[in-house]
Amino acid sequence: MESNTTRGGISIELEHIFPIIKKWLYSEKEIFLREIVSNACDAITKLRRLVSLGEAGGIELGEQKIRVILDEKASTITVTDTGIGMTEEELKKYICQIALSGALDFIQKYEGTEADPQQNGIIGHFGLGFYSSFMVSDTVDVITRSYTGSPVIKWTCTDEGNYEITPDYDDEEGLVGSFGTAVVMHINDEGKEFLSPWKLRDVLEKYCAFMPEEIYFEEAGKEEEKKDKKDKDKEPEAPKPVNDTHPLWLKNPSDCTDEEYKEFYRKVFKDWKEPLFHIHLKADYPLNFKGILYFPRIGSEFESLEGQVKLYYNQVFVADNIKEVIPEYLLMLKGVLDCPELPLNVSRSYLQNSGYVSKISAHITKKVADKLNSMFTQDRKSYEGIWRDLKTFVEYGCLRDQKFYDRVKDTILLEQTGGEFKTIDEYLESAKEKHENKIYYANDKVAQSGYIRMFNDQGIDIVLLDRIIDSQFINVIEQNREGVKFVRVDSEIADDLKGDGEIKELPKVAELLKKVAGEKLTVKFDRLKDEKIPAILNVSEEGRRMNDMMAMYRMDGMPLDETLIMNLSSPLTGKLADEIENGREEAAETMARQIYRLAALSQRQLTSEELVDFLSDSYKILGMIN
Ligand code: ADP
Repeated sequence: MESNTTRGGISIELEHIFPIIKKWLYSEKEIFLREIVSNACDAITKLRRLVSLGEAGGIELGEQKIRVILDEKASTITVTDTGIGMTEEELKKYICQIALSGALDFIQKYEGTEADPQQNGIIGHFGLGFYSSFMVSDTVDVITRSYTGSPVIKWTCTDEGNYEITPDYDDEEGLVGSFGTAVVMHINDEGKEFLSPWKLRDVLEKYCAFMPEEIYFEEAGKEEEKKDKKDKDKEPEAPKPVNDTHPLWLKNPSDCTDEEYKEFYRKVFKDWKEPLFHIHLKADYPLNFKGILYFPRIGSEFESLEGQVKLYYNQVFVADNIKEVIPEYLLMLKGVLDCPELPLNVSRSYLQNSGYVSKISAHITKKVADKLNSMFTQDRKSYEGIWRDLKTFVEYGCLRDQKFYDRVKDTILLEQTGGEFKTIDEYLESAKEKHENKIYYANDKVAQSGYIRMFNDQGIDIVLLDRIIDSQFINVIEQNREGVKFVRVDSEIADDLKGDGEIKELPKVAELLKKVAGEKLTVKFDRLKDEKIPAILNVSEEGRRMNDMMAMYRMDGMPLDETLIMNLSSPLTGKLADEIENGREEAAETMARQIYRLAALSQRQLTSEELVDFLSDSYKILGMIN
């Protein structure tokens, strides 16, 4: 390293780097543990490789392991490994030069992005490596002994950048044994929270739960305490590693049992509700990633739709829910993805435009769609049984990703108000005779029950679209299927509901209705097969959709244009006309008001004024019964 060289405004002198590391990475201090423990893992992996190649001079591997030792009294966190260790030259080269230039690279790349490093920085701060330990330490010691049998050396560095090397260090505590490395972090004020065993264990479990070498968490002094308390005759329990070195996603799907998948789900997501099903992802070269995605049980629409997709890099946890890598709608699922090819030392915006990432997305989308399709064809009954759980996810996916829609379009189900399910094709096929290309729907089974019954009576099935997302989803289908139109039950009268007979206008009736309901009301006359209903109130599909959309953006919509369709087949319509004809003004007005309000009642909520009038009219009418 050339000293005092200035590059990109940051001096590469060691002492200048520390304040920057601290200031910069303040928001994610906890990643120091991941960096130091994953270095320890790498050191063991490298040794294993050397041994297997026969290049480790007769070294026999025993139980290689990593220890994370918390000493609250001494305010230290120590990470030891039984890996390859370093000679003095290697230490100078790897820690003093390479690791430092790695940290420098990192800082130079993101220099000037003052704002939240989580937004601008690299995902999970990968690549900062060893020097991230200084985010939480005022001094770091590296005690190491190379597998080649050199003496133990100790390197001590303060957060001012001054270091010294003790060549023949007397490792009294036996931290490194015959080979390996111990990194002792003397925790500073900023890292104090990590001196809590709960916090430290938590961070360890978050980032290191699936690292490939066994990791043991220890608290200095606690072992002795336990031994004293325990029955002397009893064998102390063997300590358990905090991590699972062979995570399920690495196994062959054919070797995994259903119970294993469920167990893994419970453990990783702490969700005691069983998932609906899972998809084991295994993409070979060149994508080369693995993972398991679970469909959680969603239940109601308002239950959290936020899933959790954990991203790993060679079994090292990177972060949750990285939208730059995983299509947004898939974040409603729960799962793990291990992508060893991901360029994690690049910015989020780079990832967004990366061809590799879009290939991963496309692959996952395909697998999810394939799974849905195969469940549909293999066991339609069960698929229908879980449709309500899947629906929001599938619809959201279709809204977000045309390719996803294209793949699942034949297995999208429409739930009928009667409870049965039809695919879009099945519905359209059954509607062909009566209402070709029209899908009648209701968005509130109870409030619209009057309309629904009217349609059902004429053999027309009504689709239930009662979730908020449905109003957008129907646009997707309409855009993709030419001619197909969704029509809400209260927006028009299907031809099949209409009866035979002459249709004539009754101008006086229309006039009176406008008088009681407001001039804006359009009044039309028609004949319905159902004679009991004197009138139906309709609002146009387009107008209502427009209003719904404005409501979504929290804007005031236009007042909806209402059309009252008077049923000429209903005796009540005739009666109203007679009352007017006979000059019984008051009775005619009461009747007109009541007919309009009853029609309005099944279409929308009455305004408070309307409701007061409606009640007083109703009492008046009750008084007339004799
Ligand atoms: P990276 O791990 O990305 O290479 P680091 O800054 O974390 O960067 O580490 C720099 C180098 O220091 C490593 O590549 C490795 O050669 C050496 N090193 C760090 N920790 C250990 C360790 N526990 N055992 C052996 N070598 C290590």
